[in-house]
Amino acid sequence: MTNIILLGPPGAGKGTQAQKLVEERGMVQLSTGDMLREAKTSGTEMGKKVAEVMDRGQLVTDEIVIGLIEEKLKAGGGNGFIFDGFPRTLAQADALGALLAKMGQKLDAVIQLVVDDEALIARIVGRAEQARAAGQPVRADDNPEVFADRLRAYYKSTSPLIGYYYHAGELCTVDGLAPIDEVAGAIAQILDDK
Ligand code: AMP
Repeated sequence: MTNIILLGPPGAGKGTQAQKLVEERGMVQLSTGDMLREAKTSGTEMGKKVAEVMDRGQLVTDEIVIGLIEEKLKAGGGNGFIFDGFPRTLAQADALGALLAKMGQKLDAVIQLVVDDEALIARIVGRAEQARAAGQPVRADDNPEVFADRLRAYYKSTSPLIGYYYHAGELCTVDGLAPIDEVAGAIAQILDDK
């Protein structure tokens, strides 16, 4: 059982790498972004509440996302959990630590995907174009204006987690601008060393 966090700004490749780990290692991906998008389309009160916040590129409340994660943790984690897009605030990081401890588990690694802002903007524009070309729905928050707000939210609320996990001795960094398979190889190396 290996529990990891994939940490990085929006568009860094967290979802892509999480998918690979699910396929190759039988780990369970917990993406709060996916859970919230699901809630958004479900038409529930919570869904309506989060839709507007997400479309503005801002963070949903800690209470909501911690509640979602708590529910999924109870369902069990296969060969380990991959936290993707969670935690995004220091309060969420504290809550995750407490939830894992309560289950007698811990974090094995926090893997930071290091990228630069210009590459991110190019990726997000590309992701929207690809979806459009394939006739798939384009994420409402995948446009340059909202992306700027998502990036701001990342630097303001999420980037302090880098220091938090560095101090805990859990932080590992990977070059997120390398080709997808190279990034996957670097992550595999970190997991195999655990
Ligand atoms: P993502 O798919 O991870 O980029 O998330 C899409 C959007 O969902 C974010 O821009 C936030 O509005 C919201 N969101 C996802 N995860 C969290 C989280 N852990 N805390 C707060 N808001 C979140």
